Amino acid sequence: MSITVMKNYINGEWQDSGAEVFGEVHNPVMGEQIAAVPYGTRGDVDQAVQAATAAFPEWRQTPPLARARYLFRLKDAFEEEFEDIARVLTREQGKAIDESRGEVRRMIENIEHASGVTTMMTGYCLEDIAQGVDSSLFRQPMGVFAGIAPYNFPAMVPWWFIPYALVSGNTYVLKPSEQVPMTQNRIFELIDEVGFPEGVINLVNGSREVVNAILDHRDIQGVSFVGSTPTAEYIYERCGATGKRVQALGGAKNIIAVMPDANLEAGMPSLITSFFGCAGQRCLSGSILSPVGEGADACIEQFVAAARAMSVGNGLDESTAMGPVVSEAHRERVLAYIEKGLAEGAELILDGRDCRVEGYPRGYFVGPTIFDKVTPEMTIAREEIFGPVVSIVRAESLDEVIELINSRNFANAACIYTQNAKAVREMRYRANPGMIGVNIGIAAPMSFFPFGGSGNSMFGDIKGHGREIFQFFTDTKVVIERYF
Ligand code: NAD
Repeated sequence: MSITVMKNYINGEWQDSGAEVFGEVHNPVMGEQIAAVPYGTRGDVDQAVQAATAAFPEWRQTPPLARARYLFRLKDAFEEEFEDIARVLTREQGKAIDESRGEVRRMIENIEHASGVTTMMTGYCLEDIAQGVDSSLFRQPMGVFAGIAPYNFPAMVPWWFIPYALVSGNTYVLKPSEQVPMTQNRIFELIDEVGFPEGVINLVNGSREVVNAILDHRDIQGVSFVGSTPTAEYIYERCGATGKRVQALGGAKNIIAVMPDANLEAGMPSLITSFFGCAGQRCLSGSILSPVGEGADACIEQFVAAARAMSVGNGLDESTAMGPVVSEAHRERVLAYIEKGLAEGAELILDGRDCRVEGYPRGYFVGPTIFDKVTPEMTIAREEIFGPVVSIVRAESLDEVIELINSRNFANAACIYTQNAKAVREMRYRANPGMIGVNIGIAAPMSFFPFGGSGNSMFGDIKGHGREIFQFFTDTKVVIERYF
């Protein structure tokens, strides 16, 4: 098996990193190394920022629709290579191929939405703010922006930001997750084929050193980050200290209420996908299941039966519903949480610890795992596990669930399964999370709505994609004019 060594893409060229240290990229189903990734250097970042800075004046002057046309061409390339991108993604991340396809589709939708630039970036004006004096507002790009990505959505997450940054006239430097750099590598091959002007979009591989170099670089105007809460908080603070704009999306502990009147038969497939899709490695995954009042036993019984029936295997097999987790280290982390749950007295009613898949003895598998009788103070009800582990916290009333939701450190998403409009309104009105699902297990906003939570799930003011992101990537200039 040959090991591919990742390169950087700077100023329109593939380049070797100046790094001396390399990380391993693994195929999680085979449990073997498939690529090496340079833990890049400050020099790599500086080179990329210099290229992006040099490209900015001309890119800024390129009319917005001409900028959008580059993205249209890229969209065509993505459509042509759709299946290939999805397969590269599954190979390095492990998720089921249909989930990868969904992710690539969501990535493309951001390009489609960003092409509305001529409406989104338009300013406004008003005559006679005083007699004979007119005023107008322009939105202007700011220069070089950077993105720092997590491992769980290697294709989509960087593209919550890149199309909007580029189409509004900025230039860009991306650092993908060092755990899954191959998907963006494939995407940048297509960027290279489309032929953006040199330096407009750059890729620097690496780990913490590269992140710190981005945070400290004086010529970077703003940073979009997605990852765990401790890193998000760190990025937010350090960007503040160096005077950069920042949007930092963090971790989650999402709670799903199932009311006694819920249509369990219709809702079960999306409930199961919420907790176990992507092997629980989604910031929108359900983590705590809260069946309310009478009917809890029936709900749990059906939920466990459906979880038990899930096919765990190689994400590239069309019949696989759940693949492995991303790495051996992460598998061990998830297993440690299961041990913690047991030690703290939760009742393990479905045990995925010893999950073996024929043909893949070294895969990083954890089977669907469910704890009943979890109490709010237990570790598995408080911390983000990011694996296929469900904590059931039974509740007497919806009030109790909303209290539970608002008492967690995270506030990314919450969902409710019910037919009752009043219960839905209570959830929408009172629960803190930024994304709410109603009979939907993954409350994922599409590209034309903002993506992001509240509290410790989001640091900064402007969320991912949506309309508002054009504010993040532009500054306003107000002109007041009078003529004699
Ligand atoms: P992570 O925080 O470990 O890493 C994210 C990025 O930050 C990577 O590129 C990594 O190189 C860098 N990084 C990590 N530690 C760093 C440090 N100490 N200093 C500087 N840079 C550092 O996150 P992850 O494990 O890759 O991703 C999973 C996390 O991302 C989960 O917590 C998940 O909830 C979260 N996530 C959130 C959203 C959202 O929309 N809120 C979406 C996807 C993932």
